[in-house]
Amino acid sequence: MKESIITNKILNWYDINKRSLPWRKKTSLKKKQYYTLVSEYMLQQTQVITVIPYFNRFIKNIPDIETLAKFDNLKLIKFWEGLGYYSRVRNLKKAAQLIVKDFNKKLPSNFLELKSLPGIGDYTASAISAIAFNKPLIPLDGNIERVLKRYLYLKKENQIQKENLIKQKKIFGTSRRSSDYAQALMELGALICKPKNPLCNQCPISKKCTSFIKKDFNLTKVIKKNRDKYFLLKVYKRNNKYLLVKNNRFNFLKNLNIFPMKELIKPKNFKQNMSFKMSNMNMSVKIEYNKMIKAIPYSYWIDPKNLKNYTLPTFTKKIVKYLENHK
Ligand code: SF4
Repeated sequence: MKESIITNKILNWYDINKRSLPWRKKTSLKKKQYYTLVSEYMLQQTQVITVIPYFNRFIKNIPDIETLAKFDNLKLIKFWEGLGYYSRVRNLKKAAQLIVKDFNKKLPSNFLELKSLPGIGDYTASAISAIAFNKPLIPLDGNIERVLKRYLYLKKENQIQKENLIKQKKIFGTSRRSSDYAQALMELGALICKPKNPLCNQCPISKKCTSFIKKDFNLTKVIKKNRDKYFLLKVYKRNNKYLLVKNNRFNFLKNLNIFPMKELIKPKNFKQNMSFKMSNMNMSVKIEYNKMIKAIPYSYWIDPKNLKNYTLPTFTKKIVKYLENHK
């Protein structure tokens, strides 16, 4: 199959089968660029189906880059609550401020200028360049990687390294409809070449797909090891309220409200009460009840009965619920 034939087959399939997503709506160029920017930040680490309601609410309340650049931080985080990875929304606002200040309120189309914005790496810069500016780039997200690995039957350790996948993606060719083509490849991975049970009978490129020919769809992954980390979490309680602090100590959940904690290095006889998977760590948490002796800076009290009234990360909410269930 020639590259151009693959391209046409995938685009034809996309034209008939694409999902109607809010950031794909026909709109002005300026809005399309803003929608692409917001959706790409939201889609980092989060699935389409989860992002849709968050995206709709965000756009309704913050309709353009200028509004975003000036938007109140606390209210902004409220719109992100539940999506996790809060550094994304802080970076998104900083990016909007830079776009207003340095790029005359227009999202830059240049790959390197996009990459200079906080929270935008190689992948997001390619995705925005392709989707918002129709540049002939193929952003290698998890969906496209899966199609590529299966189509070429890439399984060995050296074959599935990022550098090799970047080289191999040229088999997809390019299209004058670059924006649609990038989205078509992502959509093919999301809807047809699914992680489990790919729907090969509906796939436009099955004839030359090596995994389909071999009837072996198993994927191999580069193994990234999560680090085990241990934390002592201190609970201070007064009048049935819990004390939280603004986190300026740890790199995760930065500037958000958490219980006072400290990391323990290789503790002995550590009995965990809770465990979490966060960023690249397996987090074991031991809870310790303490008496308040002196004031703790940047702290405040929350009433567990009114959790909805506070802007809190899911991590903190889970701990409050645990404490309330283990009184
Ligand atoms: S034929 Fe099946 S395995 Fe191959 S790319 Fe299509 S969906 Fe994926």
